[in-house]
Amino acid sequence: MKPAPFTYHRAASLEQAVALLAQGGGDTAVLSGGQSLGPMMNLRAARPSQLVDIGRLEALRGISVAEGHVRIGALSTHAAIEDGAVSGPLGRVLARVAAGIAYRAVRNAGTIGGSLAHADPAADWPAALLALDARIHLRGPGGDRAVAIDAFLAGAFETAKAADEVIVAVDVPALGPTARFGYVKFCRKPGEFAEALGAVLYDPGSAQARVVVGATGSRARRLPAAEAGLAAGLSPAAADIAALLAPVLGNPSALVLKRQTAAVHRALQEVLTDA
Ligand SMILES: Cc1cc2nc3c(=O)[nH]c(=O)nc-3n(C[C@H](O)[C@H](O)[C@H](O)COP(=O)(O)OP(=O)(O)OC[C@H]3O[C@@H](n4cnc5c(N)ncnc54)[C@H](O)[C@@H]3O)c2cc1C
Repeated sequence: MKPAPFTYHRAASLEQAVALLAQGGGDTAVLSGGQSLGPMMNLRAARPSQLVDIGRLEALRGISVAEGHVRIGALSTHAAIEDGAVSGPLGRVLARVAAGIAYRAVRNAGTIGGSLAHADPAADWPAALLALDARIHLRGPGGDRAVAIDAFLAGAFETAKAADEVIVAVDVPALGPTARFGYVKFCRKPGEFAEALGAVLYDPGSAQARVVVGATGSRARRLPAAEAGLAAGLSPAAADIAALLAPVLGNPSALVLKRQTAAVHRALQEVLTDA
């Protein structure tokens, strides 16, 4: 199928992009890599009357290191991150996540900002960045604001981003010298969306622990009880993880619960056995 008719704007500045979105009254969509929006428009699951292409905005590009975090421009592609655009231990963690997204042609065009805005419940970045405690920077008609990813992710294809806001950048805290990251994604074939996903950040030096389950059918979720145990250096048994996951997943089938339990359990094993 072909998309419903729309008007195309190429934004010359971030200010212009925001103004076009505000004037569009919720019927105008940002276009980044087009890897989710394009197929949705072709299937007519999305029918924006206007597109605002932000792909040439330099303000949304680049990666910078500040005290305590790395700022990743929203237009950074999965491929650029896979290829090491972020340096150091955090860069290796992000590269690993990026390399598991789709296949290279999709990664060449798809962006980290687009993935967060789209908030597919089975996507990689929302779950990984929830474990990494990221902050999302937004620009709207009222100015700039930053939202912790816990508050940004609202549900399946739902975020705290208003229709007239653009994701500008993502801040990801630097990893301490003792930090470890576990990431386990199960999918039927390489390059597919996750059927089960576990993401874990554990830093024994600071007792920081974040345990996330993705591919829930809704937003990625943290497991506070597992985090408390991990912060104390405890490795929960698979049965305990299953008991924590069952209410989060909302009456899952035995297969779904088993798959999700294995993903989270293996991600925990990664951080607890990683020397
Ligand atoms: C075959 C295939 C396989 C895939 N497999 C995976 C996978 O395994 N894991 C995974 O995580 N993803 C997967 N994806 C999705 C891919 O990661 C997309 O790149 C991503 O979801 C959207 O990024 P984009 O830059 O292409 O955004 P677009 O498609 O351009 O936009 C997506 C949505 O976000 C909005 N948007 C985009 N950028 C911004 C911004 N900066 N500010 C505000 N709103 C914005 C758009 O208006 C639109 O609603 C797959 C896609 C395909 C086609």
